[in-house]
This record gives sequence, structure tokens and C-alpha cells, in this order.
Amino acid sequence: MRFYRDLGLTEFYRRPVDAAILEQWEAAAAGPEQQSAESAARQAAPPFTHSQFPLSGEDIMSARKAQFSSPFIAAEVPREERAAALQMIREEIGDCTRCALHKGRNKLVFGDGSPTARLMFVGEGPGADEDAQGIPFVGRAGQLLNNMIAAMGLTRDEVYIANVVKCRPPGNRTPEPEEGATCSPFLFRQIDVVRPQVLVALGATAATYLLGSRQPLAGLRGRVHAVRGTQLIVTYHPAYLLRDPRQKKEAWADLQIAMRELGLKAPGKG
Ligand code: SF4
Repeated sequence: MRFYRDLGLTEFYRRPVDAAILEQWEAAAAGPEQQSAESAARQAAPPFTHSQFPLSGEDIMSARKAQFSSPFIAAEVPREERAAALQMIREEIGDCTRCALHKGRNKLVFGDGSPTARLMFVGEGPGADEDAQGIPFVGRAGQLLNNMIAAMGLTRDEVYIANVVKCRPPGNRTPEPEEGATCSPFLFRQIDVVRPQVLVALGATAATYLLGSRQPLAGLRGRVHAVRGTQLIVTYHPAYLLRDPRQKKEAWADLQIAMRELGLKAPGKG
């Protein structure tokens, strides 16, 4: 309940709390090992078969390559084909050496969660824990993100999570513009496939690449932006919230905008 307490939302303690939410928070407190095992199982996407798509494999790859450099939003993928479509993007990325970040990579971090999620989070890039496990947001910041997701009344496997760059920048530095520009088209394609109702940009780097322009985070928070046919909310990166927990209340206000757009109520709220 630390996330709620830091927000000053003590009234929740007077109401019954969903047992499943408590279990999630306990799992988050137990550390990333259990979560990583669950995430690994979730990542096992069904094998792609050409019969799932109306085009030949070669046609699809050509279309995907054209889309790589296109600002236009791809045609909607049927819900039942989204896992396979994501897997196809992952296969196209392959053992990527398109930018310099591949040199220090241990594991490429593609994405995690539901291919049909209504809510998608976008971070900056993998950290050390993510680089070791190949799964986004599994370190301390990931545990906080799990708590934030639970506070919204959702579970991690109901959302989709990805980053602007898929390989860890050395020393967790901000990706260079060339690195972000090279890798972000893959993120855009993930967004186009998942087609979430709401995107949440975690931090200024994610907001910059999603909006296509660099603006101060303060000016982007507190309102709904339109990006790639979906609604974008901008908030702080969980790693920043770990450094400055006073901002959790502001982050919660941002998440409540996302909840409003999704028609969600916080657990315990009638
Ligand atoms: S960060 Fe992206 S573009 Fe760069 S090497 Fe990794 S996957 Fe390829």
C-alpha cells in the first residue's frame, strides 16, 4: 500500500481492499524473480503462420519495411493476430546491430504484456536488470510501475510495456538522438499492432519520441495528447519517482487521467 500512502490516499484503508490487489503488491515486494518467470511465460507468443495473414510472408515483410520509415499509422491488426504480429516485429529486429547500443547489450528488451492491451506504458530504455533478463521494467523502477498499475485496478499482464530503445544505453544514459531515431520505429509498430486506447509516456524521453518534439515535461503533463490514433498521457518515469517520492502524488494525478479515459475506478472506490 506504499504507493497509495505516499499519495496521501489514506481513505482507502477504511474500505475493503481487493485481495488480488494485495497479492500483486506482495509479489512486487517479493522481488523480480517471480515476476520474471511469469513474464517469460507470457512472452511465449504463438508461432506466426502465413495463413493468419492475407498476404504472403514476403509481401508482409515488404509492407512492414515501408512502414518502418512511414509516419502513417498501420492498418488495424485483428485482435487474434496481434501476438503473431508482435512476434513478427521481434523477428525482424533479430540480433539487431542497427545502432551503437547493440555493442553493450546483454539481452534485447522487446516488450512485455498483453498484445491486446487497452493501456500501454512506454519508457526510455532498459536498465541493468532489464538488460540481464530481457524484460522491461523488472528492477526497482519496475516494481514501482507494478504498484502503479495495481493502484489503477489492473494487473501487469493486462497492459503492454515497451521502451523507446530496446538495448541498454551505457550507464543508463539518455539514448542519443540517432539511437532513438533508429529504434523508435519499432516502438511505433508495436503501438500500431497493440492499438491501446491509452498510452502513458513514462518520462521526457518517451514523451519526446511519441510526440515528435522535445518539450519540458511540466508542460506536457495534466492533459490528453493525440498520438498515432490513440490518447497519450505524460507522467514521470518510475526511476525519477524513486529518487523523488514527493512527485508520486503528481504521478497519481496523471494516472487518474488515464483511468478516466479508460473508464476505470481505483480499487476500493465504489
Ligand atoms: S537499440 Fe534498437 S536499433 Fe539499436 S541495436 Fe538495439 S534494437 Fe537495434
